[in-house]
Formats: sequence, C-alpha cells, structure tokens
Amino acid sequence: MHGTKAAASVVDEHVSGAEREDEEYADVDWDKLGFSLIRTDYMFATRSCKDGNFEQGYLSRYGNIELNPAAGILNYGQAKLQISSAGLIEGMKAYRGEDGRILLFRPELNAMRMKIGAERMCMHSPSVHQFIEGVKQTVLANRRWVPPPGKGSLYLRPLLFGTGASLGVAAAPEYTFLVFGSPVQNYFKEGTAALNLYVEKVIPRAYLGGTGGVKAISNYGPVLEVMRRAKSRGFSDVLYLDADTGKNIEEVSAANIFLVKGSTIVTPATSGTILGGITRKSVIEIALDLGYKVEERRVPVEELKEAEEVFCTGTAAGVASVGSITYQNTRTEYKVGDGIVTQQLRSILVGIQTGSIQDTKNWVFQIA
Ligand SMILES: *Cc1c(COP(=O)(O)O)cnc(C)c1O
Repeated sequence: MHGTKAAASVVDEHVSGAEREDEEYADVDWDKLGFSLIRTDYMFATRSCKDGNFEQGYLSRYGNIELNPAAGILNYGQAKLQISSAGLIEGMKAYRGEDGRILLFRPELNAMRMKIGAERMCMHSPSVHQFIEGVKQTVLANRRWVPPPGKGSLYLRPLLFGTGASLGVAAAPEYTFLVFGSPVQNYFKEGTAALNLYVEKVIPRAYLGGTGGVKAISNYGPVLEVMRRAKSRGFSDVLYLDADTGKNIEEVSAANIFLVKGSTIVTPATSGTILGGITRKSVIEIALDLGYKVEERRVPVEELKEAEEVFCTGTAAGVASVGSITYQNTRTEYKVGDGIVTQQLRSILVGIQTGSIQDTKNWVFQIA
C-alpha cells in the first residue's frame, strides 16, 4: 500500500473473522449461499489524475468510503441525452476448479466494456491491464471467500464513479475505480423452478440514443418499481420491449434472452439499447460450435408463442431456464429440465468457467 490519500478512503476498519485469515476457507455455510452481500476482507481502489490516467492502486480493508458532497457521482449526469449519474458497474466471477485453480472468465471483455461505457459517459477509465490487475488483487486478497468447487463463486463488482468535485454541469475531474467481491450462488438459484417472466408493456428499460448498451448504474433505478410490482405478483423478473415501437423484445433487467426452436437459437441484436452480455457472446459461440443456427435480429414479441425453450444469460444469472412468459394476460410455457438445449449450453459454459472442460478458446484466465 502506498501513501497516496485515496478519494475513496476507508473509514471502517472492522473486519469480520480477521483472526482466521490464514485459513483456506472463510467461515461461511457454503451450502446456504444466496445472492446477498457477504462482507469479505479487502477491496481494491485507485483514482485517476487530471490527465485521465489511473494511479497504481492498492488494497485496503473492506469498508465504507468517504465522498466529497460535490462528487460527480452525487451531482451530475454525464450522458448527453439522458440524465444519469456518473457511475458504471461491472459484474464478473472467480471460480475455484476441482483442481484448486482459481479462474476468471474472459476478464478482458469486462475491462473493454467498462472502457466503452466510460467513453460514452465522458469518464476516465482504467486500462485493460489496470482493470484486470485490480480484479486479480481483489480475488487473491479474498481467496478464502472463493467458495469450494460446485458451491458457487466469488462475484466481483468493479465500480467506476466520479469522485472529483465540481459545481457546474460538467464531467468530474477525478474518478475512482474500486473492486469488491462477495461469495454467491447463482442469482436465480439452480435446481429451483425455472423463471417466470412478465412482459412490461408500458415502461421501457432503455431508449435509442440512451445508455442501455453500457453498464451505467442509472439503467437500473428507473425499472426497480416495475420489477417490484412483477415480483409482488409472483414473477421472477421482467422482460422489456423496445421503447421505439413496443413490439420487439429486448432483454430482462440484468440478463439477455434467447429463444430456441428446433436447431435455431434466436436472440435480439444488440443495437444500442441492449447490454452486450459476455455470457450472451460466449453462449452464441458455443451454440455455433455445436452446429446450431444462431440468429441475432429483431425479435417480435409474438415469436414468444412459437419458442420451445427460452433462457436468460448473465454472469449473475448463468444460463437460466425460463418456464413461462406472461404477455397481455396470456401465459406461454416452455420446456425445462434435463436433456434440453438450454441445459446442454449451460453445462458446457459452466465446464469451461470452472476448468472441468478444457478451454480451447483462451477464455479462462488463471489467477492462482
Ligand atoms: C450485466 C447485464 C447483462 C449480462 O451481461 P454479462 O456480461 O453476461 O454478465 C445483461 N443485461 C444487462 C442489462 C446487464 O446489466
């Protein structure tokens, strides 16, 4: 750790279980993991200088951070067409393989996505190397929080936000890149019933010319109310339609969507309003290798009636089966369970991510 005063400085030094830090595993009931925050030992942070370059970065105890009240993140939007706060997130996972190796999955794609998001939002961004280095240090320092093989993964949350102070509407002069993690099971727990999605007709998730194609924190707040309503009616999540016509499906709140019919797999094309998921991209490549026909195009909501299987993809969600979709009071059901295309794609992806299937594509990045 070097002496630079961090914009995001640690004010909370408390560490749970600090006395057991040399043990192989943290004191967690690994069979009961969900998708809620479990506090780990360390976080990584670095900030940008005026020239836009980031300092080397350092680990500190996981804890609260301090912000200037005039920090960009608390004050101004940094998108030209949509009011939004100056913040980007990433989501990735570190897996522990049966052989004890700790693996990341295509981390350079997360780094690139943050860079593209930062350009869109007029923010400084760490280089691909700095991004991966920050993630790697976070995982190594929190090694005991990476669940045993088959029990889950260490979910990593890189953040980029404006910490520099400014009063007028402008891009913040300084940014903080911070990485923390939490052990998790899949967001939609496997083995439990498949997802029941609700098609939202009124409120779109993203707009043409907006920020739907980048992982801006401001994309999530506006649909929380829609999600809450759907969940209170027993649905697992919401499927959004395009803002322009309301006729085509786009994606779920934080996952992409695929339809399967025979040997054809269809997913909405990412043309600015849909987040280009790394799981989405990887599943498409796996499906093509297996000989499926993959179509990335506009997908009219009517096509939901013709699909045999539907699944969602995302780092948090994995490859999750959709059991039903409800649109205008009509519920369509889909095949779930063993022996379906979704399961075949999921097991290959998970196999590569956890090192049990040989990685011939250079997707896996070993950090320990
Ligand atoms: C993160 C996210 C996804 C999934 O992306 P992955 O890279 O596969 O994790 C899909 N849609 C939205 C809106 C997201 O925020």
